[in-house]
Amino acid sequence: IEEYVSEDNYVGGGFRGKKRKATVTAGKLQTVGSGIPNKNAHGECLRVQNQMLRLQLVRKTKELEAEQIRRLELELHFMKKENEFLKKQLEEFKAENEYYKKTAKPQKTRRLCGFCKEYVDHDFRNCPERRASACSEEDDGSI
Ligand SMILES: [Zn+2]
Repeated sequence: IEEYVSEDNYVGGGFRGKKRKATVTAGKLQTVGSGIPNKNAHGECLRVQNQMLRLQLVRKTKELEAEQIRRLELELHFMKKENEFLKKQLEEFKAENEYYKKTAKPQKTRRLCGFCKEYVDHDFRNCPERRASACSEEDDGSI
């Protein structure tokens, strides 16, 4: 507004000879002048609106953050549960593995064939090599 006033004074006082130009500028100024208060009011309105929007944005952001936090907490909760489940499963697998190790070892020692001296799935009595060998097999069996 100050600018407008000073320019108006300047036009009125200084350049009387160039009235046409002055009127042109005055006309320009008038349209601008009539625009300025409106613009200011509009600006004020915009500023208020802007502030409200900013407040809304802040509130919305907080809401979203809260929701996100809640969602993350829920996710974390589920991940913890899943982790616990996986840990349990891992323990079970370990136990199972341990069980297989334990059961596998005696099986190996138990399956040591007395005839072919190898860890196989037969024993001395029904060793195929022993059966494949001579007729003396029956004699060995009887002894
Ligand atoms: Zn054998």
